Amino acid sequence: MRAVAVYPEKRQVSVIDHPEPKIESPSQAKIRMLEVGICGTDKEIVAFEYGTPPEGSEYLVIGHESLGEIVEVGPEVKKVKRGDLVVATVRRPCPHPECVACRAGRQDFCYTGDFFERGIKQRHGYMTELVVEDEQYLNPVPSGLRDVAVLVEPLTIAEKALAQFWDIQTRLPWTTPGVGKGHHVVVLGAGPVGLLGAMAFKVAGFEVTVYSRSTSHEEKDDIVTAIGANYIAAETHDVEQMAKSVGRIDVVYEAVGASSLAFEVVKHLSPNGVFIFTGVPGRKGPIEVDTDFIMRDMVLNNQLIYGTVNAPPASFAAAIRDMGVFVDRWPDAVKSIITGRYPIDKALEPLTGKTGGIKNILTIAQ
Ligand SMILES: [Zn+2]
Ligand SMILES: [Zn+2]
Repeated sequence: MRAVAVYPEKRQVSVIDHPEPKIESPSQAKIRMLEVGICGTDKEIVAFEYGTPPEGSEYLVIGHESLGEIVEVGPEVKKVKRGDLVVATVRRPCPHPECVACRAGRQDFCYTGDFFERGIKQRHGYMTELVVEDEQYLNPVPSGLRDVAVLVEPLTIAEKALAQFWDIQTRLPWTTPGVGKGHHVVVLGAGPVGLLGAMAFKVAGFEVTVYSRSTSHEEKDDIVTAIGANYIAAETHDVEQMAKSVGRIDVVYEAVGASSLAFEVVKHLSPNGVFIFTGVPGRKGPIEVDTDFIMRDMVLNNQLIYGTVNAPPASFAAAIRDMGVFVDRWPDAVKSIITGRYPIDKALEPLTGKTGGIKNILTIAQ
């Protein structure tokens, strides 16, 4: 069967013939991949910046943002059945007995760094026709979400961030977890992670402003406006002007991976404000940051910065629930995040080329 593979040693990327997987344990299911999303991580792997093949393999099958249909189940599988749509999680636990996070099924908090990730780190991914996976890593998706469920994985970033946020906000006894009313969030970046995050915060009741440095922003602006959020372009407003126009910034959801912008915005966080980092910046050399100002402000205002990576099954469930709400409220806006669909044989075009748009995906089967 076909698969998109990266050969890090040979510095090659191609659509290859990859052996079909078989069900090897009673709790596994076989999944026919329908759609797989492409994100910055995939592009970086294809540019050989990282990505590690499984032990003994010369290549890594990439892809971690999946949507598939169950075609076969092992005798002990209970969670899913033939014909069900599923989205698979990405990270698998490290083998170390002392890693309490992995032992508790929370490999998103792995201490050792020896976790595995499908399509990224020592496990083949989802840009292929058939995949076998244990049912515990599969999340059933209602059939009504068929068109957009490939966006569930990138939405889990916001869902885990929000779950963490509510845990953190129990420090303020008047906060009701899940109720964002009266709080203003600034989302940095209008890529898929930013737009999906804006939607998740909106559903939780926050006032939402998306601040973006993107120069081609008409379609993004339309999506943001459609969900009842406010779009501010960096072209017309510098950080100072943006902060002034927003007023109180209770939360910043950073989704660009640009540290210079992030640390400029940190200065405008309100008292008790929380800054959430989700982007991974490339190393571009040191920048100047007014650390005295930031540290002073953080102390005097009870502020907090945290990073978040990967997502547990509960965040997948939350993403699937929220995706249902998005589709009810803003069907066109959600769909328009997906701006390009490519067959697997043309995978290299969106993976290596300069294809524009917001989110490109591979259509592996209909
Ligand atoms: Zn991704
Ligand atoms: Zn671990």
